[in-house]
Amino acid sequence: MPFSLLISDLDGTILETEDYHRRAYNLLFKKLDISVVWTKQDYIDRLGVMGGSKLREVFSWMNLPETQYFKVRNDLYQQKTNLYVELITTDLNHGNLSLRPGIRRLFGEVKDAGIPIAIGSACEKAAAKDVLRAAFGDDLTESFAAICAGEDVSRKKPDPSIYLLAAEHVGVPPSECVVIEDTGHGMRAALGAGMKCLVTPSEYALDHDFSKATCERISLDDPSPLGLSDLKLMLENH
Ligand SMILES: [Mg+2]
Repeated sequence: MPFSLLISDLDGTILETEDYHRRAYNLLFKKLDISVVWTKQDYIDRLGVMGGSKLREVFSWMNLPETQYFKVRNDLYQQKTNLYVELITTDLNHGNLSLRPGIRRLFGEVKDAGIPIAIGSACEKAAAKDVLRAAFGDDLTESFAAICAGEDVSRKKPDPSIYLLAAEHVGVPPSECVVIEDTGHGMRAALGAGMKCLVTPSEYALDHDFSKATCERISLDDPSPLGLSDLKLMLENH
């Protein structure tokens, strides 16, 4: 199979962002006058449960009638997303947060070879674009062939929808795509879409099961730089 499209997850894959989510929740609690602070372990315990359960928990602390749940949840989600984007873009702009090793180099190689790159993120689209611009600059961000985000699909990873949508946007068959992911549920989404999956686990996902990954690397730069030829081999050899 030819290698026709690289699709990358954002959170955890391009940037080690999971702890920024935890810090954004803690800032949200402060704004709401809720005296809770989630430690890393508190947050890890909650990551195992998918589907908005964290905001359900926050809502339960607010003593509001159940009829207000959806409205309040949406508002909390927006506030927390804004705090998250602010923390990340501030740190990126001040040099306190860097892209994960090898990502910029690999994206550059793929782009220079004329192969499109798309983003498939569960994050809200406006937030994803703000983070991508702060991480890569305007030019590379504008060059992405598609940015598919949370509101573009009704089913989240591990459902393959977001990756299928990215391939469809670019007009490439799923069998010619390689996805970069950092978590087990992200990998299952990619494989479920019929794509190859390069996994580079993030800090919070080191214990996930990646036995089905096409390739797993703790770092894209170590022990040797993983490049365009390696991505091509993933499609030829599997
Ligand atoms: Mg991720």
